[in-house]
Amino acid sequence: MDAAIMDGKTLKAGAVASLKHVKNPIVLARLVMDKSPHVMMDGEGAEAFAKQHGVELIDQKYFYTKQRWEALQKTKAAEKGGPSGEKKFIITEQDLHGTVGAVALDRDGNLAAATSTGGKTNKLPGRVGDSPVIGAGTYANNATCAVSGTGDGEFFIMATVGHDLSALMEYRGMRLEEAAKAVLGKVAKLDGTGGLIAIDNQGNITLPFNTSGMYRGYVDPTGKFVTEIYR
Ligand code: ASP
Repeated sequence: MDAAIMDGKTLKAGAVASLKHVKNPIVLARLVMDKSPHVMMDGEGAEAFAKQHGVELIDQKYFYTKQRWEALQKTKAAEKGGPSGEKKFIITEQDLHGTVGAVALDRDGNLAAATSTGGKTNKLPGRVGDSPVIGAGTYANNATCAVSGTGDGEFFIMATVGHDLSALMEYRGMRLEEAAKAVLGKVAKLDGTGGLIAIDNQGNITLPFNTSGMYRGYVDPTGKFVTEIYR
C-alpha cells in the first residue's frame, strides 16, 4: 500500500510506499510529514517508524476482501491467456483500481491533498505507483490547486500530473478545469487511463476522467453533497 499527503500552505508533504501492515497508511504519511525530516519512506523502515510512533500495525489478513481477491485471480488468468485473455474474463475498471483520494480548501484559502491506494491489481512486488509520488498522484499548493489522481500510475508519474496541473495554472494562467483537461490529455496521449479530483484556491472543483466511470463526490460551500459514478 502507498499513500501521500500534502499541505498547500507550506508545501510540506509526507509519503509512504510498499507498506504491508499499516492499517491506515495515510496516518503514517501524515506522521512522516509532521514528525520526520523526510518526505518519503518505504517498506520495513517505514513500518519501523510507524511502530515507534504507535501507529497500528495489523496482520495482512485484515486487508483481504473476496472482491479484490477475485479481481486478482481474474487479472492473473487473463495475463496467462495472452492478449485475448482479457476479453475472456471481462476485467472492469473496479477490478484494476482501488485508490481513494481527497482534496480540500479551508475558509482561510489553505489547500490540501491526500491519496491512499493498494496500487494496481497484479503489480509486481516492489512496484510503487503514482499515489505517493509528490507532483504525480498527489499535489497541493495554495498558489494554485490541490490534486489527487487515480488510474494507471506509471503514466501519471510520466506525465507528472499533479505538478503539471498546478504549473499550467501558475505559469500559464490556465483555469483549473482547462489545466486538468490538458494534463489528462497528456496521460491519454501516452495511452494511460484514469482520472483526478482537483480543487483550486477559489473553490472551483473539477473531477475529470477518461475511463467509463470514477467513483467521485464533493461537497460545495453551501453544504450540498454530490456523488456520481458514470458520466
Ligand atoms: N494509481 C494507482 C496506482 O497506480 C492505482 C489506482 O488508481 O487504482 O498505484
